Amino acid sequence: MKIAFDVDGVVLRSIDVILEHVNRVTSRNLTPDDLFMWDLEPLGLDMSTLRDAVNHMYGQPRIAHYEGAVRVLSRIYRFSGEPLLFITGRCDLETARRQLEALPWNPSPPEMIVRGGDRYKLEFMRAEGVDLIVEDDVKHLEEYLAAGFGVGLMNRPWNRRARIPVTDRDVATDLSDKTKLGDRNGGRTDGEMSLPLGGRPGRDAEPWKPGELIRFDGWEELEQWFASISTGSGEVS
Ligand SMILES: [Mg+2]
Repeated sequence: MKIAFDVDGVVLRSIDVILEHVNRVTSRNLTPDDLFMWDLEPLGLDMSTLRDAVNHMYGQPRIAHYEGAVRVLSRIYRFSGEPLLFITGRCDLETARRQLEALPWNPSPPEMIVRGGDRYKLEFMRAEGVDLIVEDDVKHLEEYLAAGFGVGLMNRPWNRRARIPVTDRDVATDLSDKTKLGDRNGGRTDGEMSLPLGGRPGRDAEPWKPGELIRFDGWEELEQWFASISTGSGEVS
């Protein structure tokens, strides 16, 4: 089972750094909850402000990680015995590598492969023999799934309302029932609600199958899922 991890928005809280910078120069008070996609243009920011903010983020020696990321990545590394594979959309891979290595690994950073750049991630996924990519951006989900890759979508504010691919399992769900949908979306019943599709670890009767979409509500859920597919059940050693 080869897993690839996206970097920004999955491991690193890069958006926090970007928004802090934007808020500082524009006197706004944006938070990740204001985002409905992985794209800041709808916030009405001009391109130079955005570019500066992103460059500011790239230039950081270290960036905070999402809770559990370092611990779970370390376990996956120990379990698999292979370098961790990161595939990023960043053009400058060294900025990503530096920030990944600067995370509080114990005792030292794991071996890692950082790939990506301005080419399409699918090429790298094919080249590396990836089975599943953990992503936060819904932009290419359908293509990944159509190409036979599994996708682990990390739930983040900017993908909560995204329309994402429907699988056979989801068709069984009555999506016309707004009450149910509202319940599953924290009471939201407006037209653009998210469809929380894909299995959730430990909560679905059916186990995850290769090539499927699964949603993770954080690294702890990813860990549970990894344990379940690695050993059948129980702990990752
Ligand atoms: Mg990302």
